[in-house]
Amino acid sequence: ADLYGAGRRNSAGVELGHEASLHGLLEEIRAGRAADRVAAPLVDGVAQPGVERPLLAPADAATIVGRVREADEATADRAVEAARRGFRAWERTPAAARAAALEKASDLLEARRGRLLGLLQAEAGKTLDDALAELREAVDFLRYYAAQARSLFGEGEPMPGPTGEDNRLVHRGRGVFLCISPWNFPLAIFLGQVSAALAAGNAVVAKPAEQTPLVAVEAVRALHEAGVPASALQFVTGDGRVGARLVAHRHIAGVAFTGSTETARRINQTLAAKDGPIVPLIAETGGINAMIVDATALPEQVSDDVVTSAFRSAGQRCSALRLLCVQEDVADKMIGMIVGAARELKLGDPQDLSVQVGPVIDAEAKQRLDAHIARLKGSARVHLAEEAPAQGYFVGPHVFELKRQADLTEEIFGPVLHVVRWKAGELPALLDGIEATGYGLTLGVHSRIDATIAQVISRLDVGNCYVNRNMIGAVVGTQPFGGSGLSGTGPKAGGPNYLKRFAVEQTVTVNT
Ligand code: GLU
Repeated sequence: ADLYGAGRRNSAGVELGHEASLHGLLEEIRAGRAADRVAAPLVDGVAQPGVERPLLAPADAATIVGRVREADEATADRAVEAARRGFRAWERTPAAARAAALEKASDLLEARRGRLLGLLQAEAGKTLDDALAELREAVDFLRYYAAQARSLFGEGEPMPGPTGEDNRLVHRGRGVFLCISPWNFPLAIFLGQVSAALAAGNAVVAKPAEQTPLVAVEAVRALHEAGVPASALQFVTGDGRVGARLVAHRHIAGVAFTGSTETARRINQTLAAKDGPIVPLIAETGGINAMIVDATALPEQVSDDVVTSAFRSAGQRCSALRLLCVQEDVADKMIGMIVGAARELKLGDPQDLSVQVGPVIDAEAKQRLDAHIARLKGSARVHLAEEAPAQGYFVGPHVFELKRQADLTEEIFGPVLHVVRWKAGELPALLDGIEATGYGLTLGVHSRIDATIAQVISRLDVGNCYVNRNMIGAVVGTQPFGGSGLSGTGPKAGGPNYLKRFAVEQTVTVNT
């Protein structure tokens, strides 16, 4: 089977420096703005009743972006039952037809890019750059998993065996797959999970993050219009309580979750305590992602890559750099350059094209970050503490120097960079400390010594290692993404083995 998507091309970008392209794109975004935006739960494609709540723009809490109608527990249960009824017909739909529907949906997303980009900006507070990258990633996921479905879920793979016998390994859907996705990639991760589960022949109950249901419901509509039956894709809005209800439902056959380690653990516990079949969990969670920089690294490149990795997307990527470890001899110089570059970043409403750092997602995120910053102002060396606009949920870029690596014990999900210094000879102990956190998502190494690079990478059990470049923005099919330990269960999204975990295997032996 061709699991590497040979012959498939990733989606094309937009040259934002080209005035006519940019102008055309902005026109599409303007035209895509709808007066009435409501995300309601969809059971068999029919909008369900529920309590409505306004969705506030992260960049300006006085602006209502739209409304969400929240599902209650009865609606959540109905969605699972409906998916159960939809499962067999979808599972029996030939893989090629399932793949064609996903590909059609990817074309619809591209055709509706104005509306989707506008929503990513308004609802999730993304810069145009980030919104575009996210749209491309979503399109890539759909096409990549479609290509894989064709080869993996077709006739099955012939197995070697004795003459007179035909042996085949067949992959099939598991049943109703529950997909719970995060607000930081409300289109790409939402669709990555959903399209993988659908490609593999599962019926899906999709629960988007409570902060970002508007962009998610657009994605669901595109899939329905492209030929995914409404019964095979159910949509449930709501917060963690609804998510917990869904996880506990007896007819959920698998769960894909991206979010915090703590929630993943709770999901795992609920699944383990349920009667009935053993239910697999695919979890992608957080990290305390480190970058190791030695004295041979190129300072300009380090500075650029650190600023991108720590502050792009306001640090709200699970891949983002949290802990920069610089060799003492070059530390003052490197920190000076990084702080200088970070100070130049423009903070504000991302609908302003010159803005590079947008808001954090909501009031709770801002409070958590502000509290962490206040704590570090009292206990760490402050290299940078940028003010944030008062309106909206903004946090300015911060750089703090800690005494020891062990002082950073949790993932801080925002534009806050922590720095530690290390002396020659201390590298092994530093790597031991990083390993001891238990996380293993992304890692950066900047060095011109091959032996150092190899030493760092082989010592750490980290999912995605980036050498002499930034450490965010994994590309579908090129950098399969996901961590281990506290950072996730694998398999890697956008990689050759992802779909298999959404499927069961069946061996068919025929005496010929
Ligand atoms: N795949 C994204 C990246 O490489 C991060 C995904 C996430 O934040 O969950 O930057």
